[in-house]
Amino acid sequence: MIESEAELSGRRLSPGEALPFRCHPGLACFNSCCRNKRLSLLPYDVLRLSRGLGCRSDEFLANHVELEIEASSGWPTLRLKLAADGRCPFVRDAGCGVYSHRPTCCRIYPLARAVRLEDEGEPSELFVIADENARCMGFGAPQGLTVEDWTRTQGLDAFRAANNRMARLFLNPRRPRPLSLSTAEVHAVIMALYNLDVFRQSVAQPGFPARFGLESATVTRALASDEALLELGQDWLAVQLFG
Ligand code: SF4
Ligand code: SF4
Repeated sequence: MIESEAELSGRRLSPGEALPFRCHPGLACFNSCCRNKRLSLLPYDVLRLSRGLGCRSDEFLANHVELEIEASSGWPTLRLKLAADGRCPFVRDAGCGVYSHRPTCCRIYPLARAVRLEDEGEPSELFVIADENARCMGFGAPQGLTVEDWTRTQGLDAFRAANNRMARLFLNPRRPRPLSLSTAEVHAVIMALYNLDVFRQSVAQPGFPARFGLESATVTRALASDEALLELGQDWLAVQLFG
């Protein structure tokens, strides 16, 4: 998750410390946490969920996403739309119905991660573990996994790399502070980061590379891969929004 250090609540982990946590279907709380949550979706989450469900990005956004616009900056935040009874639409009796494509927020729990950019522009990260709470029975049952083991076993590394690219965009040193996006810029953010099937149509227009000074090899690569298209979208947005 991309959050500022100040927003993280929880306990910092010592290097190499094993997580006092184990979640498994034998617990009485199994599946109970997949409801009544504000589940934020980052761009790579939308890419993976759309792919996993076999739908276009615009279908996914229309069917599964709620949009919140931050009042002060205009920055759009996407959340998973819950069912009327508060359940995640993907939860099944046997567990997560989109397990191999589940979003960052579900993979990372009980950890949370803050990212900041160092002077060289490289992201550095800090992990904390959520405070124990009575509703989650996974605490207190160590599995012997360190943070690195956890991120590997939860398949977080690809998400971490993509989310670090988002951190580079969001924490861009050229970003005006305070940020105030116009309606057109909000649409550009949603298209280039979340609605990749529509962004692909724009990128495929014959004039796109010349208009935005892009090398044709970059465009060809982006048209052949969703991941490369998202990278192009992030780079393109950085120039569109921050010059
Ligand atoms: S242990 Fe925690 S994370 Fe696992 S199912 Fe129970 S409430 Fe959810
Ligand atoms: S995506 Fe999966 S793990 Fe996340 S809340 Fe929904 S059912 Fe639970």
